[in-house]
Amino acid sequence: MASLLIRGGRILDPSQNMDRVADLLIEDGRVTAIGDTIDAQRAEQSIDARGLLVTPGLVDMHVHLREPGREDAETIKSGTRAAVAGGVTSVVPMANTTPVIDSQSGVNHILQISQRDGVARVHPIAAVTMGQKGEEICEFGDLYNSGAVAFSDDGKAIMNAEIMRRALQYVSMFNVPILTHAEDCDLAAGGHIHEGHVATLTGLKGIPSCAEAIQIARDIELTDFTHAKLHVQHVSSQYSVQLLRAGKNRKEKADITAEVSPHHLVLTEQACLHFDTYAKMSPPLRAEADRQSLVEALKDGTIEIIATDHAPHTQIEKDLPFIDAPNGVIGMETAFPVIYTKLIAPGTVPLDTVIRAMTFAPAQRLQLDGIGTLAPGSHGDVALFDLETEKTVDPKKFHSKAVNCPFNGWNLKGWPVYTVVGGQLVYDHGTIVPDAS
Ligand SMILES: [Zn+2]
Repeated sequence: MASLLIRGGRILDPSQNMDRVADLLIEDGRVTAIGDTIDAQRAEQSIDARGLLVTPGLVDMHVHLREPGREDAETIKSGTRAAVAGGVTSVVPMANTTPVIDSQSGVNHILQISQRDGVARVHPIAAVTMGQKGEEICEFGDLYNSGAVAFSDDGKAIMNAEIMRRALQYVSMFNVPILTHAEDCDLAAGGHIHEGHVATLTGLKGIPSCAEAIQIARDIELTDFTHAKLHVQHVSSQYSVQLLRAGKNRKEKADITAEVSPHHLVLTEQACLHFDTYAKMSPPLRAEADRQSLVEALKDGTIEIIATDHAPHTQIEKDLPFIDAPNGVIGMETAFPVIYTKLIAPGTVPLDTVIRAMTFAPAQRLQLDGIGTLAPGSHGDVALFDLETEKTVDPKKFHSKAVNCPFNGWNLKGWPVYTVVGGQLVYDHGTIVPDAS
């Protein structure tokens, strides 16, 4: 029987309200015991976790792996390696690949490649509409039965309210959410950064906050009306936060969750002041008041989930002039260290709030059984972090194929040192364990 003992770490598992120094035993891919001292003889392999933070493996419910179609930017192999290097053991790739994942064969393809090349678990998202054109709803039943965990046209907004209404009605048959990239395309058209101070200074055309808020307002109404489930992706503005807070406080509570990205929690439009294409993303980095409101929303539970929106692009694409460069930044390998250093260590956001938002909350939202938890019987996915050692972000050392990281050169603490998937050590101090895949 394959077994792994993780000895003497600080185990923080919000799914069990657990925060204690203890040993953790995984046997045959499942957590079998947590205790003060577990007999080392019981395990074939052990990790000395004294002084380390031990959490459930992180669950990143918003990732772009670019396969199929853009394997020059990222693949399932490189993307899942980047994942485990960031302590992420479950990744949820979006459907905006080439072709779009809108068929059973598309979902099967992702699952097969993941089985062959992946070092983390891959839970695919399927599109809401055929080809993400926003016109014809996909066969949710077929897609769900082949293994899609939820539905999203991420990368594009669904502009037609009637299509969105029907999608919500249809998806409630499967008890999973529609994940929405909320953006009014007419209001956002031609924009490159947040419509605010820096847009004025640089002369770049802005994207107003209301482009996001208007769609969230619409989708809260539609979710209430259809009694469906909605998950709002990458929330970026204070107006969106206000709408979400109000929506959740209604008497008839709409079943709505939301996510925020590490970059929206720590960066603002100022990062675009010098036309740095690594700060160009959709939705854009907004004003300091927006950033603060997102941090508050994470603290008070209005936003339950942190997801990276890991969006790899080739260097050639990102070297284009700002207005021509594509949107998006990578994020899995820096997510926890960025949040730990900038928000947790200074005391702004509690550690357990962040760990919940990166483990149990997304796993629950997508109904990933035995994921995001270290409860006995769960899948034995574990992340171990060193909260003391400071290291400088160097994208050249990333496992991702891409280097479009806005945190280049930052000095951060909270780096993952070991990652375990299904009881198997897959990442050890910067290195993917050779026989992991
Ligand atoms: Zn998006």
